[in-house]
Amino acid sequence: MSSPPPPLPNLPSALHASHAGIWLADGRGSETVTLARGEALARASGSPLLMVNAPLLGSRLGYADLSGLDLLELFAFLFPAQFVIPTVAGLARALDIAPPESDAQCAALLPRLAATMLEWTQRPDWAEREGAWTSLTQLERLRWSWAPLLRGRITTPATAERWLFSRLQQWEEQPPRPQPSPVSLKDAEVFARLGTLTGAGAETRDGQRDFAGAAANSFAPRLGKDMPNMVLAQAGTGIGKTLGYLAPATLWAEQSGGTVWISTYTKALQRQLDRETRRHYPNDEAFRKHVVIRKGRENYLCLLNLEDALQGGFAGRAAVFAQFVARWAAYSRDGDMVGGDMPGWLPALFRRAGATALTDRRGECIYAGCPHFRTCFIERATRMSQGADIVIANHALVMINAARGREVQGAPTRIIFDEGHHLFDAADSTFAAALTGREAIELRRWVIGPETERKGRRRGLAARLSDVASYDDEGADAIEDAREAARALPGDEWLRRVQEHEPAGSLERILATVRETVYAQAERAGGEADPGYGLELDLAIADGPLIEAATQAARALEALLAPLQKLGKRLVAVIELAPDWLDSAARARIDGAISALGWRTDLLMNWIALLLRVGNAPDPRFVDWLTVDRAEGREYDIGLHRHWLDPTKPLADVVLRPAHGVLVTSATLRSGGDTETAMQRSGVHHLEGNSRWFEVMSPFDYARQSEVLIVTDIKRGDMAALAGAYARLIETAGGGTLGLFTAIRRLRTVQARIADRLARAGLPLYAQHVDPFDPSTLIDMFRDDPRASLLGTDALRDGIDVPGESLRLVVMEGVPWSKPSVLGAARRAASGSPTAYEDRLVRARLAQAFGRLIRRSDDQGQFVILSAAMPSRLLDAFPADVPISRVTLEEAIARVRSRLGSAAKMRQGAVETLDESGIVTPE
Ligand code: SF4
Repeated sequence: MSSPPPPLPNLPSALHASHAGIWLADGRGSETVTLARGEALARASGSPLLMVNAPLLGSRLGYADLSGLDLLELFAFLFPAQFVIPTVAGLARALDIAPPESDAQCAALLPRLAATMLEWTQRPDWAEREGAWTSLTQLERLRWSWAPLLRGRITTPATAERWLFSRLQQWEEQPPRPQPSPVSLKDAEVFARLGTLTGAGAETRDGQRDFAGAAANSFAPRLGKDMPNMVLAQAGTGIGKTLGYLAPATLWAEQSGGTVWISTYTKALQRQLDRETRRHYPNDEAFRKHVVIRKGRENYLCLLNLEDALQGGFAGRAAVFAQFVARWAAYSRDGDMVGGDMPGWLPALFRRAGATALTDRRGECIYAGCPHFRTCFIERATRMSQGADIVIANHALVMINAARGREVQGAPTRIIFDEGHHLFDAADSTFAAALTGREAIELRRWVIGPETERKGRRRGLAARLSDVASYDDEGADAIEDAREAARALPGDEWLRRVQEHEPAGSLERILATVRETVYAQAERAGGEADPGYGLELDLAIADGPLIEAATQAARALEALLAPLQKLGKRLVAVIELAPDWLDSAARARIDGAISALGWRTDLLMNWIALLLRVGNAPDPRFVDWLTVDRAEGREYDIGLHRHWLDPTKPLADVVLRPAHGVLVTSATLRSGGDTETAMQRSGVHHLEGNSRWFEVMSPFDYARQSEVLIVTDIKRGDMAALAGAYARLIETAGGGTLGLFTAIRRLRTVQARIADRLARAGLPLYAQHVDPFDPSTLIDMFRDDPRASLLGTDALRDGIDVPGESLRLVVMEGVPWSKPSVLGAARRAASGSPTAYEDRLVRARLAQAFGRLIRRSDDQGQFVILSAAMPSRLLDAFPADVPISRVTLEEAIARVRSRLGSAAKMRQGAVETLDESGIVTPE
């Protein structure tokens, strides 16, 4: 006979706070009182209180270190790798409990939520039971606040639990895949596949069908070497382009035996693709085999780093976090810590302590020398992608892999760049060089290892290649020479020494000289400008001391480059000589080291070229400049930068030309310019052969569904008026507003002025750069509550996909002109028409922002620009049929009110909805 479940413990009081007030409920949730801030902090500093989302609560109470019995931690422990919105309502919905109707009801609900979760431990269907006992034992030792309440409810398992590292599934080595066979897709097959993807009974949409047919052209056999089939397709929002290209892509992958890489710019689209590709694969197993999501390796958990953290490498809250990560890793689909199935709020609960140290950020992977190599998430994703039909990646990864010659086996031959309007910017940052203090200290650590004697596995070259060094004298000498030369790179505390004019070594010296030069020029130009922002200076303005420092720094880097190049050659020689000890594991590790050395020597060569440019004639292909990076008045990096004037040149050379077919698509590919400009910004003009342009309009009725209101009576620089306008517009709309800013400081000022007022009206306001969460978590919180509003900057302008009621109003603080920059000025000048160039950029930003508003055929929304200075010539950024009016704030508010009423009526009468997949859904 099984023993009865242990009684629930008495729960402590529960605290909830919003901008509207602070509430404390007793541990049964039967009585709630309101508190003043001081009282709440005093109560919270005593015995731990129940709460949801301590960092958010802490920011509402103005006490960032607030802690207690956070229900989100309990959720993460009980249900690792499961999604929940990190609010009281989100948690309630996840537990199938009616959410609170107001802030005042939240505190009283917390004891019930806590009790439900504690009782869950007694359920026979608790899917994540395995590992909980082991994990709790460790967490108890670390004094995790929930441990005493769980102890007794999670009993010792009958059989010993497998620990994480033996639970994880090993990946299988994939046999080399033959080259894809040349196939020609037939239109009828493509349309039939599209029909299967959209589903039986779905209405066929001509635009989507035409788009699928156009996309199929990129899968035709290419005409010859270096002549990829390029298709550029502008597909208006709502035509369902994702399924439109998945039709030919899945068909081609099956018929040819090859892999199609689909590259996105935002995580929102990656998530959408993850959902939509499932339509083609009948079950989880088939889906996992044929569809792989790939990200940069810095996104994934490194098991060796985790093991190190679990074995004493981390202390305090970071050690607790490591236990949560271990629990999550056992249930994670792919070990992706950033945007995968790890909740975005989990690292934030621990104030990000230790999160980055658990990934492989610094290229210290020891590959086959690692005891977890066969279960490594990164290695698994790499191998899975070699056999997959569809690899979902991002622009940066596709470009970096191509540039560094990775994925030799599976070098993409068919690529779809969705969100193709970002191709230029992605190429711009991928093919750039930056010799900064932060970059250079990473290289030093990679060569020498950590400077302090602290626990951890981070090791330098000598430790990573000790077997090579003991076998090959020349290799050993090269490692020693490299270690010696790397001492010229910046070390720990470099920024302090540079700021105090006491640089150590020639690289710190050049950084100190850069800093002095930049400040001196800023002084001459009339002060330091806004200390909240970084400073830039064109490298053309280089004087004597900078030239001297750059020459010495270049010499120091050359002294490092030579032994690293020599070491690379010795490693190749060791592989060729194949000594007895070189088993497959050692060979894989040395292969890994050769590739890591390769890109570091490339990096060094780029840095040396940049330094040698100081004081010499500029290379017209590049734009070079100096920076002092600052945020909120504090310097955090200093350096020299080089960007391509036209980054589509390396994009074409490295990524496009070797491919056989490339589709570049976006809803705003041409926006802001003509077709010719769109083709140029995709790199097509650097290629021989044919490229096709295709265009299909959005099926949405923008004239009926939306309007643009330009508010003419908010004076530029009047922060009180700006904040007041935001508050009144959000109040009128009843929330559901996305507020877009071009400056973080103005965003913060507006947030600080209006958050309390809105909260008192029951309208939550979330803000990027204020609330301690990443944009994806904030978007989830915003999407989940139709009364919530969200303020943000660039990342939200086109990284947000919120169909339906949650987003009904977009308010831009002004015209999104570019910030002045050396690079921007150079590109404007090179364009031959600086005004037209800038106008094109602004039009593109407006079109992207407007694109957030209408995501489905039943969406209704208004786009408000709070600037009388909005030039009429830029209004063609919006769809042609959208009504645009210049109005006073009062009129704008009246229009918002009136549209809200008609939208509600329209929704009542709606019979069908066309969503972003282009699929008609009956309501
Ligand atoms: S193989 Fe590399 S990335 Fe993977 S767990 Fe080991 S050290 Fe970490």
